[in-house]
Amino acid sequence: MRILLIGPPGAGKGTQAVRLASYLSIEHISTGDLFREHIDQGTELGQSARPHMRAGLLVPDEVTIGVIEERLARPDTERGFLLDGFPRNLAQAEALDGILADSQLPLDAVLVLEIPEARVVRRIAGRRLCRRDREHVFHVDHSPPEVAGACDVCGGELYQRDDDREATVRKRLEVYRSETAPVVEHYQAQGLVTAISALGHVQEVLDRALVAIGHGQVDTSGTSSC
Ligand code: ADP
Repeated sequence: MRILLIGPPGAGKGTQAVRLASYLSIEHISTGDLFREHIDQGTELGQSARPHMRAGLLVPDEVTIGVIEERLARPDTERGFLLDGFPRNLAQAEALDGILADSQLPLDAVLVLEIPEARVVRRIAGRRLCRRDREHVFHVDHSPPEVAGACDVCGGELYQRDDDREATVRKRLEVYRSETAPVVEHYQAQGLVTAISALGHVQEVLDRALVAIGHGQVDTSGTSSC
């Protein structure tokens, strides 16, 4: 399957993306994670992405589209992929449409996680990530680690992303509204979008997502096709 997962910061996109991709045995591709890896490795690309990320702004399209093009060209994407955080504006959506048309690999679904903005800042402020593996995500209130500051899975140190500060989160929300909301409309016009409520427990949201893509039990609460 080839799926896009779209949603504002704080909707739990990353959390759901890891679970969905693992359930479907497809690659989880997060542009945010790819950029953070580049930053950690001190690459030139990481250095050019960093100031944009710290300011809560989008990394320029020529950089981002290049990263995705290179990632989608790897053979492990043949069995399918879930894109988390891409495309984030119309130019990226059009570039992706072009890449997929060239390889004759149409998208199967676009899932949009919805959450009231008032909930976002609280969710993000408590988010902690593991330094050893960013897919190990905790929340100081909702899913605290057993030992404060340490990852339950591997013992790695937990830290807060430097773009998770309140002012930056507000900027990211603004960017989502102005740049990413039109991407949802773009895929609505192609009949691919299912909107899912991002409220509730991780497993509840995951169940809604699985139903939306034709897996799992039918429970229509919290989903709507558009
Ligand atoms: P979130 O969805 O919670 O904001 P991400 O990890 O997806 O977190 O993204 C973090 C930051 O990485 C974004 O604010 C942006 O600066 C950069 N980024 C990620 N994906 C893209 C993209 N597709 N285009 C441009 N910038 C991106």
